[in-house]
Amino acid sequence: MYGVPPFEGHDPSRWEQFTRSLQASVPASMWQRWLSKLEPEISPRRVTLVAPSEFHLNLVKERYGELLAATNAECFGPETELILVSLAQPLETIDNSVTEVEVRPENVSTMLYKRYRFDQFVLGDSNFFAYGAAMAVANQPGIAYNPLFIFGGAGLGKTHLLHAIGNHSRETKRATTVCYVTSEKFLNDFIDAIRRRRVDDFKARYRSTDVFLLDDVQFFEGKEQILEEFFHTFNDLHQMGRQLVITSDRHPRNLATVEDRLRSRFQSGLVTDIQPPALETRMAILQLHADLGPKLVSTDVLEYIAATVSENVRELEGALIKVTAFAAMTSRPLDLEMAKEVLGELAMGRKKAIEAFDIMRATAESFGYTVIDVQGKSRRQPLVSCRQIAMFLCRELTDLSLPKIGRAFGGRDHATVIHSVNKVKQEIRSGGDVSERVESLSKALRK
Ligand code: ADP
Ligand code: MG
Repeated sequence: MYGVPPFEGHDPSRWEQFTRSLQASVPASMWQRWLSKLEPEISPRRVTLVAPSEFHLNLVKERYGELLAATNAECFGPETELILVSLAQPLETIDNSVTEVEVRPENVSTMLYKRYRFDQFVLGDSNFFAYGAAMAVANQPGIAYNPLFIFGGAGLGKTHLLHAIGNHSRETKRATTVCYVTSEKFLNDFIDAIRRRRVDDFKARYRSTDVFLLDDVQFFEGKEQILEEFFHTFNDLHQMGRQLVITSDRHPRNLATVEDRLRSRFQSGLVTDIQPPALETRMAILQLHADLGPKLVSTDVLEYIAATVSENVRELEGALIKVTAFAAMTSRPLDLEMAKEVLGELAMGRKKAIEAFDIMRATAESFGYTVIDVQGKSRRQPLVSCRQIAMFLCRELTDLSLPKIGRAFGGRDHATVIHSVNKVKQEIRSGGDVSERVESLSKALRK
């Protein structure tokens, strides 16, 4: 089918082709973190990839299983078997079957959003740990980490991950009953149960689930009665080996009015946070959404949105919708100009960030780079000069503080900014290329 001759022995060029093809198919950071860490063991008609840990293995299998299988067929031929193992685990083939769990009647409505799935969740350094933990839990409810506690700011994907756990564990039949509930609904149900003298029903309902997903537990703060009730729900579920996953906007230790006994239970499994996504991840999230939409959105528009709306993924999606809706309604081309106009309001509140963005963009362009390159980690020349010049211009043309400039440049510290500014100053003093370039960029930017 692929026209690749059967693979009979060791041929390094095939392995090279395999890695090159994989590398081209995933974002650089994901390659670095996950795929490049797989060690090959190649024998005739069998390629075994060894992951450094079970956690690593599961993530790679779920996330890149299909890609690995397709790349394997393409490079080594369709008859070659691909096996994924971890250092800590016995042999397991890629499409291992699942043990069915005992079927119980479903008496808690699941309320899962179908859209919130693992494969619709963009991975980045800011969220990979929470994602990996969520996936481990979805694959082995009640066994992997119990409870799993995920905390982080608004709009960073906590609810998305809860639903993804629910959807995945149900679809793979690792759990029969899954209950997703917001803390607010749990409280309302409880109040309702008391009012109708049906507390036993309430208890039975919430204790009959394999996977219990409680969203935004900070809502319980200061509400003693529900905290007491939840403490018992938690204990009962936990003792029965059922999986609990809890989210919150802060670490359990910062849930001020929650009693120690509950706080320590929250921390008895795995506590993991989600951080705001970096620019590269924001771009990937926007790209995912843009690809689902009817119209092509150009990279510079996506870059502008990603750089303007900094932290909250929900706002990021909102901004993209706003821009595409405006383009559709006015039948105007969806270009950078328009994006700036439409998001003006948002931009106003973050004027400084935009100025830094404009500087980065103009400077990057003059060197043939992108903003992502400038914010990235690479220290090759002339990218380093480009970055230093952009930092210098930020210092000159905006009133951003040194730490803020550092942050705009992919989270560098203020000492790096000082160093860059001084370096460029020196170069300007000695005349030549740099001073000309700075002069013309500065003129263009002030226009
Ligand atoms: P939270 O519960 O942390 O406030 P949500 O899970 O509701 O955040 O996420 C807000 C929106 O952003 C949702 O539409 C969600 O699908 C999306 N989102 C968040 N993080 C990601 C991500 N890493 N990849 C794709 N979409 C994301
Ligand atoms: Mg939420």
